[in-house]
Amino acid sequence: SSSSALNFGAGPAKLPKEVLSEVQSELLCYQNCGMSIMEMSHRGKEYDKINNDAQKTIRELLKVPDNYRVLFMQGGGLGGFAAIAMNLINRTGSADYAVTGTWSAAAAKEAAKYGTVNLVFPKADKPGAIPNESAWTRNPDASYLYYCDNETVDGVEFHTVPQTHPDVPLVADMSSSIMTKKVDVSKFGCIFGGAQKNIGPAGVVFVIIREDLLGKPMKICPAIMDFTNINKANSVHNTPATFSVYVMEKVLQWIKKMGGVEGMEKQSEEKSKLLYDAINNSDGFYTSPIDKEVQSRINIPFRIGRPNGNEELEKKFLDEAEKQYMYQLKGHRSVGGIRASLYNAVSLADVKSLVELMQRFKKEND
Ligand code: PMP
Repeated sequence: SSSSALNFGAGPAKLPKEVLSEVQSELLCYQNCGMSIMEMSHRGKEYDKINNDAQKTIRELLKVPDNYRVLFMQGGGLGGFAAIAMNLINRTGSADYAVTGTWSAAAAKEAAKYGTVNLVFPKADKPGAIPNESAWTRNPDASYLYYCDNETVDGVEFHTVPQTHPDVPLVADMSSSIMTKKVDVSKFGCIFGGAQKNIGPAGVVFVIIREDLLGKPMKICPAIMDFTNINKANSVHNTPATFSVYVMEKVLQWIKKMGGVEGMEKQSEEKSKLLYDAINNSDGFYTSPIDKEVQSRINIPFRIGRPNGNEELEKKFLDEAEKQYMYQLKGHRSVGGIRASLYNAVSLADVKSLVELMQRFKKEND
């Protein structure tokens, strides 16, 4: 049945069942108000509390320093790409971008509409690698240095925070890695991302920004994407995606209950180790196309069949997975193969089931 599906989707992705049940129980009547939270004003006291609690919980979970602001906006990750440039590139007119995969490439392309984009290394001919930082060509006059912490499509993750010039703020897209590992927020000028993978449903973009970076948007920046504006209005400049923020707040509480970011990180390490062990111990039947040092713990693409993947076997695997109620394992259309996304709500037991299937499938098809 649908309630027993194992969801390995890349996003929108699995949400904790407890959270969904709670949402269900409040759907028709939120806290004795006689109506759904969806039907209530974004300026009423109920939503005001949800909005403030969500910000507060993000601050708590990530130990966000006092000189940073937490904002919510709409427009998805892509909206974030434009907003980052329109809010931050004005300082010097140019920005540095590290392109390590699909999403940082899209962000760099978007930013080039608003200023000069310098790629700190040429686009790699082989996906799945990040050039050593000593080979990056950084511009000391860049308005910021941008990178994508975890490339959701390609399965490439930064396991350390890149170095940057002290005057060049670091900006990170953490759409697919937020709350899966500890981060030292003080190293960043801005962290942003879509909520729809690790901390909630689609519809909200979180922005954590150092206060001194506010106040310099481009003139053309739409009011709904202007961080300065959003900050002044406590993220209710216009009607937010209230229901999405409400569900996100519950997911954040769930993360807190599950041991916070530390708990999520520990679980993430266990889950990804289990899956990579299954790949590495398969004698080449399963292969990861990603350099070991930058393999993602969150989105794990792999191929099935020797020498470098066999589409027929992969299709058969996906069919068998569905028979076991394991869904959304098909690799992104641009890379093929299989991709398992192990976001916060995906349990160790879910990954164990996947690994059991992989072991059985190898026995029967290798
Ligand atoms: N950045 C990353 C790292 C992503 O994974 C995604 C979506 N998969 C995006 C940006 C784009 O987000 P959206 O679809 O919300 O625009």
